[in-house]
Amino acid sequence: MPLEVMDTVKKEKPVAKKFRSFEGLADSTFVRLADFSDDFAYDMRYATENNFLKAKVYDCAECYTRVKTAKALVKANKEFNEHGVKIKFYDCYRPNSVQYKMWEIVPNPQYVANPVKGSIHNKGGAVDITLVTLEGEELDMGTDFDFFGKRAYHDNLDLPQEVLDNRLLLKETMERHGFWSIRTEWWHYNLSAASNDKVADFKWKCN
Ligand SMILES: [Zn+2]
Repeated sequence: MPLEVMDTVKKEKPVAKKFRSFEGLADSTFVRLADFSDDFAYDMRYATENNFLKAKVYDCAECYTRVKTAKALVKANKEFNEHGVKIKFYDCYRPNSVQYKMWEIVPNPQYVANPVKGSIHNKGGAVDITLVTLEGEELDMGTDFDFFGKRAYHDNLDLPQEVLDNRLLLKETMERHGFWSIRTEWWHYNLSAASNDKVADFKWKCN
């Protein structure tokens, strides 16, 4: 069909958005979450200055992970949807060169993983997330993303019941889908199956 005709057809009847399928993709391949589902929300903080570094370390806001991480996230999000909420991403796969940039700004292992060793974010198996309603309103998790302090700890139970309930929903659902949490950051989740993957420096294209 000539291009002009296709354009006309598109205008008259908008075609449903076509998503990519995981079929035939190796578990270690890097993929863009938004190509597989539009049921996620995004607030990629490190592509802005609204983060604890006060610096924009990504050229553009994209959420990439390895295929096995993406598959687990899509499944977990389906379960969240049953509760009327969905995942919102703050950070996903982080190229090792970006880890070096962050380390240059804050060379303190308490806040930034040493780039020489790398972190699971650099392996494509970690995500920083929260939950929002299907309309996009954030659930109260007690602190903002990257709040470094006791209030962000999973074992700090001195918080309003609503906050504890929200964190528990996030944690239990993620754990059911193969992720584990770290004690000091309520937003950080590692895919267990990613621990032994290699640190990567794949970089996505920005338009
Ligand atoms: Zn993280």
